[in-house]
Amino acid sequence: MLSTELEIAVQKAPQEQLKEKPDQNALGFGSIFTDHMFVMRWNRDQGWHDARIQPYQDFSMDPAAMVFHYGQAIFEGLKAYYGDQGEILLFRPRSNFERMNKSAVRMCMPRIPVDRMLQALKALVYLERSWVPTAPGATLYLRPTMIASEPALGLRPSDEYIFFILASPVGAYYAEGFNPVKIYVESKYVRAVPGGVGEAKTAGNYAASVKALTEAQRNGYTQVLWLDALEHKYIEEVGTSNAFFVLDDELITPPLAGTILPGVTRDSVLQLAHDRGMKVNERRISIDEVVKAAEDGSLQEVFSTGTAAVISPLGELFYKGERIIINNGETGPVARHFFDELQAIQFGRRPDPHEWMVRVA
Ligand SMILES: *Cc1c(COP(=O)(O)O)cnc(C)c1O
Repeated sequence: MLSTELEIAVQKAPQEQLKEKPDQNALGFGSIFTDHMFVMRWNRDQGWHDARIQPYQDFSMDPAAMVFHYGQAIFEGLKAYYGDQGEILLFRPRSNFERMNKSAVRMCMPRIPVDRMLQALKALVYLERSWVPTAPGATLYLRPTMIASEPALGLRPSDEYIFFILASPVGAYYAEGFNPVKIYVESKYVRAVPGGVGEAKTAGNYAASVKALTEAQRNGYTQVLWLDALEHKYIEEVGTSNAFFVLDDELITPPLAGTILPGVTRDSVLQLAHDRGMKVNERRISIDEVVKAAEDGSLQEVFSTGTAAVISPLGELFYKGERIIINNGETGPVARHFFDELQAIQFGRRPDPHEWMVRVA
């Protein structure tokens, strides 16, 4: 595809088929979808073609489509925000699309020029602008996805793909307050191995993680903290979010060394920490170091970062039969600062020094 604009065919849902807007106080996460979706197809002869916005609808797919069997599927997650002046804003959408292209390369799937994906996203969000929630903290969650659609059972990269974008109004993550969560430190199952696909946002990573998640939840924990696969020692991530530690006034997060998802929120927190002159260190940190720091009092805070929750303070870690209480189980000032700062930028309430926000309308 050349750098010309995408030709997007727009087929609007008829007025009488438009869905009733949901109660903004009961949105939950990811179960309500808007009236339209963006869809585009790829094959070896035509490249990306047939870009369209159409009424939200089922796909008709051959049961031999490769995604069902071998899991060639990648996705992204980002949000549209309703600003104080009624503007509609996206947070760092190019970062998500650059990451999507990296995931595509790792999974032998075709890339899409970032500008074209952004054009498609803006067109969809603009058409669905009445779906962007106005309730405090609520947003329109956006899910760009690519799947292998060729019907073939021989194992190789598919020769056909579908790229689509769904939009889903979601509630404020902290409707009941910005409260710390309890986390199970996972020392049996692992998420990603060096040389594997841990740094790609690809479907199989999540399928492989739900066993550990359900076991942790059955024991009363919200999420798992993943340790490295080789030594079960170094901290990787917290569920589907990146891990941060405040230790002796220094902000520490594990480095991007191939097994960790390079979070856009992670990168934004690092930037904001640099901006306010905080000591920042991207380095390996072991669970034993965290336990010891909790014992000697140098561990001040632990939190995780991701698009859905922005920042999640961690109040308790459960590791090998021991409970590690962090900051008396309360939200610390660093987590609160980054949460407030990022939300203020995302909703257009504060200057945006890094030009992160992209305006749709
Ligand atoms: C998406 C994701 C994150 C967070 O990334 P953001 O870009 O900040 O939303 C972290 N870890 C995993 C495994 C993820 O899938």
